[in-house]
Amino acid sequence: MARRALITGITGQDGSYLAEHLLASGYEVWGLARGQANPRVSRMRKLLADVQVVRGDLLDQGSLISAVEKVQPDEVYNLGAISFVPMSWEQAELTAEVTGMGVLRMLEAIRVCSSRGASIRFYQASSSEMFGQVSETPQNERTSFHPRSPYGVAKAYGHFLTQNYRESYGMFAVSGILFNHESPRRGAEFVTRKVSLGVARIKLGLASELKLGNLEARRDWGFAGDYVRAMHLMLQADTPEDYVIGTGRTHSVRELVEAAFVAAGLDWEQYVVGDQSLHRPAEVDLLCADPKKARTQLGWEPTVAFEELVAMMVESDLRLLTDGGDPDQDSSWP
Ligand code: NDP
Ligand code: GDP
Repeated sequence: MARRALITGITGQDGSYLAEHLLASGYEVWGLARGQANPRVSRMRKLLADVQVVRGDLLDQGSLISAVEKVQPDEVYNLGAISFVPMSWEQAELTAEVTGMGVLRMLEAIRVCSSRGASIRFYQASSSEMFGQVSETPQNERTSFHPRSPYGVAKAYGHFLTQNYRESYGMFAVSGILFNHESPRRGAEFVTRKVSLGVARIKLGLASELKLGNLEARRDWGFAGDYVRAMHLMLQADTPEDYVIGTGRTHSVRELVEAAFVAAGLDWEQYVVGDQSLHRPAEVDLLCADPKKARTQLGWEPTVAFEELVAMMVESDLRLLTDGGDPDQDSSWP
């Protein structure tokens, strides 16, 4: 019988890549979808026709228990979250409820169903934002946390709770501490996609400038398609353990911008405008992964280099806009 996976956050970037990966690996895939008429669910249904949908919301404990009871999954991937750092200052309480308490609710749903005999492995989408103001570089599984946003704090809660349920109840519950990962399906509010869309608009004469905040921040950017493979591998391991997933290379936003404009044959300095309002109340200045444990224990390697990723996103957005697509509506899904 096919293994069954339940994914929260199915309408997001990672949910789509993970669903494709699991379907290709022979899984029966279910996505938890919220809302009465969520347009992102219809988009997802069109593009991932083989994914089955179960209604539920990370804010609603009962709905999660019902979803787990209905699907009877072998594996649960908790990718659902308020995931945009600036929004976590604007709606700190909602972020705590969805990104933090949502983990508790999903773990409880699994615990309740496990007490009735189910055996369910759990993956939590932890984040390098938990490291925040870093105490060492590169960051590994033992690096201490100093989150710099309500989002980072909520993720740290979910991370420790996942560890605690593993230790308290013997659950196979693990966290992947994933560094930034991007793709043509990345939300338009994140800096990589904002830049690739901005470059495409400028190239096509649809815009004349691109407003950005802090150009000096450094991130370890990888390709989302590579990172979902790591999530799956973590749940196939013999023992439940947490892993850092990243490329081990760090680049500044300035380098990202330069690479994106170069990919379109443009000079970034003619178009990029600084906007103080886009700077954050507290910034994460530098992130760089040490993915050695994932490489040695899971055999995981990233396959897409930074320049390749940036070029892929710029090319995709040029195609999308040339074809008259609306990035706010259809992103650039397959
Ligand atoms: P996205 O922002 O693309 O997707 C977030 C998903 O969460 C959407 O499907 C959204 O559904 C869902 N969601 C929001 N609120 C709720 C709710 N109340 N109940 C159920 N689902 C909800 O994120 P990514 O795909 O980029 O990231 C996946 C996960 O990995 C997130 O948890 C993110 O924080 C984490 N992460 C991401 C990194 C990255 O670089 N991408 C790095 C490290 C961690 P809807 O369509 O209904 O809004
Ligand atoms: P994050 O690392 O999860 O916060 O991912 P983002 O893509 O949102 O931001 C990455 C970095 O880009 C942060 O250090 C931001 O301060 C920086 N940045 C600079 N300008 C912008 C901008 O206009 N939008 C976003 N989203 N980030 C920006």
